[in-house]
Amino acid sequence: MQTTLTDSAKEAADILNSGGVVAFPTETVYGLGAGIDNPEAIRQLFHAKGRPGDNPLIVHIYSLEQLADVADEINPSARVLIERFFPGPLTLVLKKNQLVPYSVTAGLETVGVRCPANLLAREFLSHCSSPVAAPSANLSGLPSATSWETVFEDLQGKINGVLRGKPSSIGLESTIVDCSGPMPILLRAGAITLEQLQAVLPEIALNIVTNEAAPPKSPGLKYPHYAPKASLILVHANDRITIGPHSAYIGISSPPEEFSLAKICPNLEEYGRELFSFFRHCDAEGINVIYCELPTNTGIGRAIRDRLIRASGSH
Ligand code: AMP
Ligand code: MG
Repeated sequence: MQTTLTDSAKEAADILNSGGVVAFPTETVYGLGAGIDNPEAIRQLFHAKGRPGDNPLIVHIYSLEQLADVADEINPSARVLIERFFPGPLTLVLKKNQLVPYSVTAGLETVGVRCPANLLAREFLSHCSSPVAAPSANLSGLPSATSWETVFEDLQGKINGVLRGKPSSIGLESTIVDCSGPMPILLRAGAITLEQLQAVLPEIALNIVTNEAAPPKSPGLKYPHYAPKASLILVHANDRITIGPHSAYIGISSPPEEFSLAKICPNLEEYGRELFSFFRHCDAEGINVIYCELPTNTGIGRAIRDRLIRASGSH
């Protein structure tokens, strides 16, 4: 399959509207889109990524009017979050309506919905003839793609097009809040922080699994994610470590040891933005072990911790 690279949102949308699977930039990570009204494109999307069919896709919209095309019921907590954080890096899980096929929601009666803030994403979505189902535009299990070059590396020849934009400004996947039940629940940490959510919804709960036998609230969370080929070792700022050859480091504190490759980030925002591209850079350089500083569980540190713990396979 020929993968068209384009800088034109209209051309990318035309490819999607004619049944294609197209990657596009967003402020979180690049997304891999297919029209929700095109079952064959949805099937190809799962196939291109190697994504298990029981891992639902997030539906992307460009305007609040489009919410009615995907969600059946918008309860008061969802309204508060929409008012405060849409458009932006927040996905809401809502009761789906009958226009959203079960192939998108992996059989669930709920749908994840996001309205990205990235202007090129919105221009692209505005030219698409239906809402767009889009997981992250990377091969399943690998670190998410935060640049079009990375998307192309993973998916060249497997998808119909890539809309080339700037590198993702956040670099971590969206915050997900389940608003389909009586109580809002934080399912995945992201750039919209727990503290920001609590400021408008003090009753928001954390997704603590109390019953292992119950179906997972966010099915995708059970799969290995974000992992580079190198193994990860999670460290704290003052840990003394003995490093071997071909080791790398990423964090916000300077380590006392000499690494062959190191990224010291001036703040947590930069750490989040650089994390996945650093993982991929380390793999390209033949690094065996990446030491990653575990930030505290506050602000965007919660999302970075979550990705590090999942990527290291230690959750
Ligand atoms: P990705 O697009 O690769 O970041 O993955 C999307 C994530 O959103 C998956 O991990 C899903 O578990 C979660 N998600 C999408 N739709 C739903 C839904 N209806 N209910 C719960 N979680 C969802
Ligand atoms: Mg993903």
